[in-house]
Amino acid sequence: MHSRWSSKAAAGLDPLALRVYTSRLLGAEPSLVLFGGGNTSVKHDVADPRGGVRRALTIKGSGTDLATIGADGFAPLGLDDLIPLREREILDDETMVELVTLALLDTAAPRPSIETLLHAFIPLDWIDHSHADAILTLTNQTNGAERVQEVLGDAVGLVPYIKPGFELSRAAADVFDADPSVDGLVLDKHGLVTFGESAQQSYERHIELVSRAEAQISRAWFGPRRPSAEPRTDAARLAVTLRGLLGRRRHMIVRSDTSPRVRAFVDHRDVSRFSQQGPATPDHVLRTKRLPLVLPSDDPADAPGAVDHYEAAYADYVQAHADPADEFRHDAGPRVVLAPGIGMFTTGRSAAEADAVARIYRQTMDVIEGAESMGGYAALPARDLFAIEYWPLELYKLKLAPPERELAGRVALVTGAASGIGRATASRLAAAGAHVFAADIDAAGARASAADIATDGGAAESLILDVTDEDAVTAAMQAVALAVGGLDIVVSNAGIADAAPIEAMPLSAWQRSLDVNATGHFLVTRAAVRAMRRQGIGGSVVLVCTKNTFDPGRDFGAYSAAKSAQLQLGRVLAIENGEHGIRVNMVNPDAVFTDSRLWSDDLRAGRAAAHGVEVDELEDFYRRRNLLQTPIGADDVAEAVLFLASDRAAKTTGAVLPVDGGVRGAFPR
Ligand code: ZN
Repeated sequence: MHSRWSSKAAAGLDPLALRVYTSRLLGAEPSLVLFGGGNTSVKHDVADPRGGVRRALTIKGSGTDLATIGADGFAPLGLDDLIPLREREILDDETMVELVTLALLDTAAPRPSIETLLHAFIPLDWIDHSHADAILTLTNQTNGAERVQEVLGDAVGLVPYIKPGFELSRAAADVFDADPSVDGLVLDKHGLVTFGESAQQSYERHIELVSRAEAQISRAWFGPRRPSAEPRTDAARLAVTLRGLLGRRRHMIVRSDTSPRVRAFVDHRDVSRFSQQGPATPDHVLRTKRLPLVLPSDDPADAPGAVDHYEAAYADYVQAHADPADEFRHDAGPRVVLAPGIGMFTTGRSAAEADAVARIYRQTMDVIEGAESMGGYAALPARDLFAIEYWPLELYKLKLAPPERELAGRVALVTGAASGIGRATASRLAAAGAHVFAADIDAAGARASAADIATDGGAAESLILDVTDEDAVTAAMQAVALAVGGLDIVVSNAGIADAAPIEAMPLSAWQRSLDVNATGHFLVTRAAVRAMRRQGIGGSVVLVCTKNTFDPGRDFGAYSAAKSAQLQLGRVLAIENGEHGIRVNMVNPDAVFTDSRLWSDDLRAGRAAAHGVEVDELEDFYRRRNLLQTPIGADDVAEAVLFLASDRAAKTTGAVLPVDGGVRGAFPR
């Protein structure tokens, strides 16, 4: 690892700006800190809001990411409120948090790091703390203390493992006081703390110590591999199996990683031993859980037993360590699944969460491999990890988090998502927390829809899909399975329309309408129910039909006939799939003009002629003909689709919900 310090970049910065600068330098190294890990501080003079100048400890806020931190990610505290706390005999977590909060000099500041007192008790002005992989590789060995001494010698003091908080802060300060000449402290099985008179000194000591550790770690780890045989399944199929098993309790997104890097780890003959020790640093337990599930084989038939066994073992672990008075339990399912011969699967309530788990576990692999090639990997005992996983301060953070959205963990595929009803529906489902695949024959349009959703903070991917192409539909389902492990909601919406009296209609126009408006829905919903049945946790299919199925109009024969086939298809799907927990419902919109490609200029002209009105009166004509005298927007239809797709409609299947402002002739029957 090399220093990224630039005197030019640092020139002229005030202490807080300099603190931001070197914090980001640390954050730029994923092998030092990931996802809110690590923290930094500076002691400096600040204006006291009550008047005068005060010595402050300005420290990173809890949960802020060092890679992207700004000045507003730091919290200033009155240093002379904190230092006397070191004299306390005991200080429980709750009182500590209260006293630290009372020391805040800015009421708008984020919650100060849980390691605040450690930074306060060490007298140097600049402090950097990370969970560096290379340091953990040394400490997480059976003879970790000797390794640290051997590699880093007198440059560091070693602090025995203690859960973050008052006791660790005091122990670290005691080790520092015993030899203030050290450049840093190694916190056993936790990480590295360095300090200095300047930002540059503390940062460069950090990089220097990590580099020394890195130089001692063997990078040539080629363990005995399992005999390679053709796996009995592929990653997509196994992902679906796992998602179905986990989804019996909670819907999860399942990410797959079959890269050579991951395969080198999971295919090792001893993976069931060294992966079952625990995480590299305690706060990873909150993302990865204590242990990954190692599948016994690449046969999906073995997966149910393995998941059951994992969940039972997790319940035992909780039982063994939990205070019986505390009722809260994390769900029992694995976050990391290692599949020899295939790769790694990670799970989360969102793709971002599952991806974070994957990033952390790939680094855990680095640490385990390094430690295994030296003295053998060893992690903290289960009780210490449990203490972090069920630490009231961590559980409190969960309570502060906004409530989960209705469709968290769910996957939705929407066809015809480049415009109109499809686009609005994709956005609405994503806003409700679903991971959305926006599919359309128009690739650029699908990408734009997905990008808009991402801009609004949702999760979406685009798919190019011609719904009339059987192979393309199969490939799309396969792509979804590989990306997220399966799907729960399919909105079959893609459609076309053109107007002509039957007497003048060319066969090609009739056929084209049947292909897209009937067969397209057949292909998409058939693939959907096949995928949902394989997954085994039910699902919801919503077909976007039309008011015309009950109330057809003249010059709209090809459209109305094909859409009636679609409606009947939906009803039969409902009949055939109820026993699998798959619900199939229809929405019947009328005259939705919002952002619609269906309403081409030709179609507008044709429908205006059929109704005997001018083209520019058409939208108003449709509005006036419904009972509520209201225009129908794509968002109105999207809201109805969300309702039918969600658990709020859990007892409804085979239903048709009109979204037409009330058209008497189109009442469902
Ligand atoms: Zn830490």
